[in-house]
Amino acid sequence: MVLLQDFLQKDPVALGDELHRFARELYPICRSITGDGLRKTLAMIQERIPLQTTEVPTGTRVFDWTVPREWNIRDAFIKSADGKRVVDFQKCNLHVLNYSTPVQATMPLGELRPHLFTIPEKPDWIPYRTSYYKEDWGFCLSHNQMLSLKDGEYEVCIDSTVQDGSLTLGEYYLSGRSADEVLISCHACHPSLANDNLSGLAVATYLAQFLAGRDLRYSYRFLFIPGTIGAITWLAQNQAAAKRIRHGLVLTCIGDKGGFRYKKSRRGNAEIDHAVTHVLTHHAESSEFLEFSPYGYDERQYCSPGFNLPVGCLMRSVWGSFSEYHTSADNLEFIHPTQLAESLRICVEILDVLEGNRRYRNLNPHCEPQMGKRGLYRPTGGGTIEEELNARLWVLNLSDGDHSLLDIAERSHIAFPMIRDAADLLCESGLLSAVSEENDAGSSPHEASVANVAVARRSRS
Ligand code: ZN
Repeated sequence: MVLLQDFLQKDPVALGDELHRFARELYPICRSITGDGLRKTLAMIQERIPLQTTEVPTGTRVFDWTVPREWNIRDAFIKSADGKRVVDFQKCNLHVLNYSTPVQATMPLGELRPHLFTIPEKPDWIPYRTSYYKEDWGFCLSHNQMLSLKDGEYEVCIDSTVQDGSLTLGEYYLSGRSADEVLISCHACHPSLANDNLSGLAVATYLAQFLAGRDLRYSYRFLFIPGTIGAITWLAQNQAAAKRIRHGLVLTCIGDKGGFRYKKSRRGNAEIDHAVTHVLTHHAESSEFLEFSPYGYDERQYCSPGFNLPVGCLMRSVWGSFSEYHTSADNLEFIHPTQLAESLRICVEILDVLEGNRRYRNLNPHCEPQMGKRGLYRPTGGGTIEEELNARLWVLNLSDGDHSLLDIAERSHIAFPMIRDAADLLCESGLLSAVSEENDAGSSPHEASVANVAVARRSRS
């Protein structure tokens, strides 16, 4: 079963619109790392895929961390003396410092000022700020809005609660032929921010929906979780499942107009790193590859040394590097249907490689087999006959039971689907046989072969 071929039957315009519409539905919700905004978000994902949710009580120890008290908010405002709301949470949920403790007071502007956050360089944008682990309250507003505040008394209200409750994790597990897993993880804890959080949520949800009900080689685990504390909590409570993760991707900031960026796993030469690099290298849009660093999204937790999972991070614009990042300008106009649909397609292409990547053995390894008498000079529709023939020769030559199809695709610079088609045809012709999947399951022999190829490549250059 070829995922990508099926996926390409879909209308990308309709799909992009659907993804953007979903982001738009999620946009107004005031999310945080705990609370009803996060629950409501997961419930909306649940309308599309049968997500399981887990509530982890406040105070639960998770490695070096503790699940925090739960935050909920109903309203917040700053009112001027004439009773007008000059800052209003109902208009934009970014106005409140996320996790603000409750406040009900009247105070002069001078006293209020230390609790106001703005971005002077972008005077029309509202910043996004949080204070999860330090008790504090505050308001975020545009710099121009702040400059317009006159001296005088202001009524300040934050109608929030910070109390014992729980942290919510959303999880969707799809069972494949193998217990080995592919992890797709995204954070669901930012309020009205589109690229940073909603783009990943939308793409992951539709990716899961696309995979559901298919005959899959791998089992898939989709996590929709609050950033950092959610990944730490999930890992602390699912150490056995984490051991089954063979490949993983964190999806974030994938709806804007930037080209693709892939941050490699800590291992740097895992199969996922090779698969994403291969797919993006053959993609029309520009792409960049970043080495692992212990900063960013939840790959930091998955790639912590105690786990060292083969999990990379797929993005378009990189967090912190675009000026809209963590501001009100990361809105629904900053993400686009075309880019969302293309990001989803890239994810399917990557999974298509992982699903189809195996090792084969050439059953006629002593000199080239005679292709003509086996009808192997015919085209099958994947490309020109020269390209297809070239792919068949590469597959025959490198199928020594050690090189995977992805290794062959990388070495030959031929796109993976054509290499796989060649392998399928050669199997039908009796020239190739797949190395048993049991050998595939353990990551060590394969990783060894990937490492060998990497070493070989370095020594060539
Ligand atoms: Zn963020």
